[in-house]
Amino acid sequence: MSGAGQGPLELVVVGHVDHGKSTLIGRLLHDTGSLPEGRLPDLEAMCRRRGTVLEWSFVLDALQAERDQAVTIDTTRIGFRSARRRYVLIDAPGHREFLRHMIAGAASAAAALLVVDAAEGVREQTRRHAYLLHLLGIERIVVAVNKMDVAAYDQARFHAVAADLARHFEGLGIVPAAVVPVAARLGENLVSRSDAMRWHRGPTLLEALDRLPAAAAPAARPLRLPIQDVYRRDEKRVLVGRVESGTLRVGDELLFLPGGRTARVLTLEAWGRSPRVARTGDAVGLTIDQPLFVERGALAAHGAAPPTLVRRFRATLFWLSDRPLAVGGTYAMRLGTATVPVTVAAVERALDPVTLDAAPSAAVGRDDIAEVVLRAGTPVALDPHRVSPATGRFLLCEGPAVVAGGIVAAEPVVEQVDIHPVDHLLTANARAWRNGHKGAVIWLTGLSGSGKSTLAMMAEKALFARGFQVYVLDGDNVRRGLSQDLAFGPEDRAENIRRVGEVAALFADAGLVVITAFISPYRADRERARRAAGAAFHEVYLKASLEACEARDPKGLYRRARAGRIAEFTGVSAPYEVPEQPDLVLDTGMLAVEACVDQLVSYVERATALDTAVASTG
Ligand code: GDP
Repeated sequence: MSGAGQGPLELVVVGHVDHGKSTLIGRLLHDTGSLPEGRLPDLEAMCRRRGTVLEWSFVLDALQAERDQAVTIDTTRIGFRSARRRYVLIDAPGHREFLRHMIAGAASAAAALLVVDAAEGVREQTRRHAYLLHLLGIERIVVAVNKMDVAAYDQARFHAVAADLARHFEGLGIVPAAVVPVAARLGENLVSRSDAMRWHRGPTLLEALDRLPAAAAPAARPLRLPIQDVYRRDEKRVLVGRVESGTLRVGDELLFLPGGRTARVLTLEAWGRSPRVARTGDAVGLTIDQPLFVERGALAAHGAAPPTLVRRFRATLFWLSDRPLAVGGTYAMRLGTATVPVTVAAVERALDPVTLDAAPSAAVGRDDIAEVVLRAGTPVALDPHRVSPATGRFLLCEGPAVVAGGIVAAEPVVEQVDIHPVDHLLTANARAWRNGHKGAVIWLTGLSGSGKSTLAMMAEKALFARGFQVYVLDGDNVRRGLSQDLAFGPEDRAENIRRVGEVAALFADAGLVVITAFISPYRADRERARRAAGAAFHEVYLKASLEACEARDPKGLYRRARAGRIAEFTGVSAPYEVPEQPDLVLDTGMLAVEACVDQLVSYVERATALDTAVASTG
């Protein structure tokens, strides 16, 4: 590539402690003329005052100290340029910081510089770092075999170290772009050639870096836009996020996962402008042509190249916690802008990254690698890391602590044999044909007194009479058993609705029409129920004004709420979020109950009718 017009090459510098990373960076900045004016004389004066000799690593310390006042991240980014192109060096104090930053997306190194001490040779950290580079898919690697002056510029020593490293690399499938003998402190073979190492025919370090090819353009990758936030502005809702890969245009149809709804892009907004196109790396706001429920954590993509939507998936973990990894352990997974609870379902293989030996999978300890199957609490949209790094890497957290960095496997999908064994013998179609209708969740939502229970019971009776397998889930039968451990605070209410959603989804999967009768005032809770049941979910809004419901007040609840005796009563002291796109609206404020029942029954008949094209095999 030519440097012009391209972003800088991000280069992470790794190596065992004391092998000379900081010295090499300081000297490289100096030798390429990248140090700020006056910086070196200042440091020299300081060393004279203190009676110490100048160490090149002081340069880095000084730059770091300046930065620390402004930002508190534990990696340092330092820009420099060669005649050929610009670079950003990323210096992480240890492999854990490096991993955390790579995965959190704070750093996105495309290439690496590995520093190895010629006298000490390949050490544990060297091997661990090499594994990490392999895990993160960083394939462009230059090795500096440093302190050649200490090794008496001995060619045989250099080759011995290089050969040792090559053996470890080979186990990982890594082929370094170059291995260069250098003496960082003396600036030998960094930018200028060393007289003491005439035997070295290969490039200097800077030449080797300059020869690294540029990264594949992320624009060529499929569109991935993790939604960071949703702002309300007047009547508009603006979805905000950063284009992690691909290109987004006004008019594009977007698929939002995990919900699975689609909408077209009406406008793009960036820094007060309204561009027609947003590209990789751009932070954008967008408005869409549908009033979809989209929240932080959703992933937008083009329908033609969607991410994978999974509940169970394969991944490789780099375990960082002192407490060993446990099958059955549950952690918060942070992937893109989403946070999803995941449980470790199985450890398929464990490995010591230093020796590359298999470890017993029951004992994955700190710094070990584990190939695992994770089960997510809700469906997650992701990609194999190789296809899309930004949506293929994640952190596992326990409270505020990061316990692992993870990479989504090349083949992430795990067959759910152990969860739905019957699916191999019976299909949803088979059940539908026996029952004469498809399974469905008919989710009634509306204020207290809008008629949910009355309608549900009457519709159940009418549908039963027509031969439907039908059942009503309501507060009474759920609170008595399934949710008897829950109270009525906001969190317990949300949990109750979550359980109802999951149970209703199972009922529908079993082929039944299940009618649920819960106020379910929050869109987020109803969307979660929709996600559980997928296409079988039907949201039915029982529309009646607060005044009408309060006038009816069949259970005297409004009266008690107004008297302050019921806290957080929907409509009185807690909000009701009206459905934005209900599948059916029943105007129970205007129509007689019988008319509403008729409408609901005929809707259910239509919605659960068998597809005539579907064969009755199962
Ligand atoms: P880091 O921990 O990898 O950042 O290592 P430093 O850059 O702090 O270097 C560790 C020690 O090795 C320091 O005392 C350096 O002066 C010394 N050192 C670094 N490079 C060279 C070199 O090329 N030759 C010699 N003789 N010493 C070096």
